[in-house]
Amino acid sequence: MGNTYLETHPDENGYFGKFGGSYIPPVLEEPFAEIAKAYNELKNSPEFINELKYVRKHYQGRPTPVSFAKNLTEHCGGAKIYLKREDLNHTGAHKLNHCMAEVILAKHLGKKKVIAETGAGQHGVALATAAAYFGLECEIHMGEVDIAKEHPNVVRMKILGARVVPATHGLKTLKEAVDSAFEEYVKDPINSIYCIGSVVGPHPFPMMVRDFQSVIGFEAKEQFEEMEGKLPDNVVACVGGGSNAMGIFSAFIDDKDVDLYGVEPLGRGEELGNHAATLTYGEEGIMHGFNSIMLKDANGEPAPVYSIGSGIDYPSVGPEHAYLKQSGRTKVGLCNDEEAVDAFYKLSQLEGIIPALESAHAVAYAMKLAKTLGKDKTILVNLSGRGDKDIDFVIENYPIPNAKF
Ligand SMILES: *Cc1c(COP(=O)(O)O)cnc(C)c1O
Repeated sequence: MGNTYLETHPDENGYFGKFGGSYIPPVLEEPFAEIAKAYNELKNSPEFINELKYVRKHYQGRPTPVSFAKNLTEHCGGAKIYLKREDLNHTGAHKLNHCMAEVILAKHLGKKKVIAETGAGQHGVALATAAAYFGLECEIHMGEVDIAKEHPNVVRMKILGARVVPATHGLKTLKEAVDSAFEEYVKDPINSIYCIGSVVGPHPFPMMVRDFQSVIGFEAKEQFEEMEGKLPDNVVACVGGGSNAMGIFSAFIDDKDVDLYGVEPLGRGEELGNHAATLTYGEEGIMHGFNSIMLKDANGEPAPVYSIGSGIDYPSVGPEHAYLKQSGRTKVGLCNDEEAVDAFYKLSQLEGIIPALESAHAVAYAMKLAKTLGKDKTILVNLSGRGDKDIDFVIENYPIPNAKF
């Protein structure tokens, strides 16, 4: 054991301070312990590391570049803005980083089938991609309401060979999809494995998904130093469950001079139900098998949440984010729908990059931050994904600024 932050967090029971842990029904204790044990062995195995390196380089298209956003920087008139281009990762977002690794783990454990839930369909598409590549069966549970709303991603998953199972009870959205996927998983935990889509859920997933996503930060650190001859002064990422943010933060946690900002969606405003700013407005609570900060309704149940970015509307947050915020290592920024759409169009028109609406929250916050800082300062933004999935929604609801025809 070394003593870097990553080597010492979480503790062996999956706690980051008081956050994290594993709060699961007894039938799941053994399968999750098996996953933790396998991961702890595999993460130091040259065979596993080499296989992961191989797929990252020859299939995913890694390393993804860091781009200096020159025009956006000039537009803001302050600190220099750089983008880590996860939009250029295969399937167009960072999620494939952990899905490929989770499926390699599944294969090493001799599993035949990967199971997951999906909300907007992004995690489902990434997992279906990884399962196709490695030749495993893939079953994605999705609320009936979301299936109707997210048609293109449902079609993608089916084309990739996955089975899409509708969750038909309750509100028929993400929470019901989680219930439905867990039900399927407990039927046969020997031959199947549950693949969580962010740094959330019971131990070991918050640690494992962070480790798999840390490739973003370690690449970006080296690339940035090569470009600027020093570390960035600030790192900014959007936070839903928190995987892309933990991915880029990981490499910088021990570098105390680098300020780390997690940006939460303020949606339509600060009233409960209009946002998903969990770290800002939430309180301690257990949900989906882990202790963290969550948004609760009057009965202490997960509150309804909203954001224009459908990948970041989650009423809890990865336990490590709760810990890092409470310890003062990270700061939390806010960005509302309007600011996100403005950044979506600005990045498109000034840099030729159409960002995902989720990622646009990080860009918008970086723009606000840049204006408060001198030109000698730098900001590295994690551009978690591309915006092709969002173009129809944006164009129908928000007119193009400076449209030429
Ligand atoms: C899913 C998604 C997110 C949010 O997930 P995190 O776990 O918070 O990173 C952010 N950006 C994009 C493009 C996504 O698809």
